[in-house]
Amino acid sequence: MNLLDAFSIQRPLPNGESALITTSNLSSLALAEIVQEFQPNLTEYEDFYRHVHQNPELSGEESETASVVALHLRKLGFHVHTNIGGYGIAGVLQNGPGKTVLIRAELDALPILEQTGLPYKSNKRMIDRYGNERPVMHACGHDMNMAALLGAAALLKASEKRWTGTLIALFQPDEEETGGAQAMVDDGLYSKIPIPDVMLGQHVVPLKAGQVAVKSGPVLAAADSVNARIIGGPCDSINPQFCVDPISLAMRIIPQLQRYIQIGIGMKEDATVACWGFHAGIPGNDYVAYVDFLLDVKTIKPHVRQVALKLVEKKIREECRAANTPIEPVVNISVRAPLTSNDPAVTKTVRDVFHSYFGQDVVEMKVNKSCEDFSILGAIHNVPYAYWNFGGSANTEGEIATNHSPFFAPMIHPTLGAGIDAMALAVLASLAS
Ligand SMILES: [Zn+2]
Repeated sequence: MNLLDAFSIQRPLPNGESALITTSNLSSLALAEIVQEFQPNLTEYEDFYRHVHQNPELSGEESETASVVALHLRKLGFHVHTNIGGYGIAGVLQNGPGKTVLIRAELDALPILEQTGLPYKSNKRMIDRYGNERPVMHACGHDMNMAALLGAAALLKASEKRWTGTLIALFQPDEEETGGAQAMVDDGLYSKIPIPDVMLGQHVVPLKAGQVAVKSGPVLAAADSVNARIIGGPCDSINPQFCVDPISLAMRIIPQLQRYIQIGIGMKEDATVACWGFHAGIPGNDYVAYVDFLLDVKTIKPHVRQVALKLVEKKIREECRAANTPIEPVVNISVRAPLTSNDPAVTKTVRDVFHSYFGQDVVEMKVNKSCEDFSILGAIHNVPYAYWNFGGSANTEGEIATNHSPFFAPMIHPTLGAGIDAMALAVLASLAS
């Protein structure tokens, strides 16, 4: 859509009147001016960040965080829907004709004991949804992602006379276990809010604070769970040494899998297999009937993913057959998170506006083996998206605490301001594209 049709940008003149920006070259400049002119009071968002950091909540249990977010969105003038797919929030700001842009942050924290030593560190413990008492920490930086998203929402509300379209500020629960996006969709998200034309997401990482990293195409891995049960036996009490022991069999299979699939997919291709769970034996029972184990398989290329998963299952079945297990193993494969792959056109729009604002601080995002369920939010409607990183580290030399470390502590400045500006710029550019 043409800039002038959908998005009339008025550049202020010294006498208080406005002049229409008429070239696409100037449009990036105009967007930067809007961002600078309408920047929110950072103290408010810094306070929000510290409050949420000190009061983190585990996946699926984000009730207080959601309340604080909903309250703030209402105060800003958004129409707010709550309790979508758990504690999910969607704030809608309708501002005339034009595109609909959805921006997203995550509400949940991790069961990690914080060791940052920060004055606002979390001492919180809570009972998780599985009934275990756990420490809680915003060790992934979702508190910073939320503060930046709310700040961007405030900036865009304040500048609403300078753009038209619809903005949806979405706060997703249960990201860490990658269930929240699907839960929101299944709970009728799109009966409550308009289907977006574009989705935008960002995540703080240990890049240098003030930097943003963006890339077209795949940026985060696809993750699949392989749940396997190996059944041993049959045993009798006279010759128990002849029964198939599922524990030693499973312990033999698991370490072979990485090399086995690497050979199968080719040494230049990329797939990783990790064992995330292993359970065997019931107290009081004198022989072990079966072993359950959970594997996490991560890949970047869709065809490699298919082959890798087939190979994992094949190897488990072959080894069980060779060991003469009395019953075939049970192997269930399920998607934990789809590949996150940025749309080239949306990414170009975002990257161009970032270049005009952040200059040298725009870097190429590296593909990594983290995974996300962000893309699920728009999957049923094929909504194109861009997902980028923003930096939160004072330096990038030596030992740096990464996301999910008990020492992860993004510096508030300039991280927060850069996150707010990046998201607001990306929204304005997407509305105008
Ligand atoms: Zn995260």
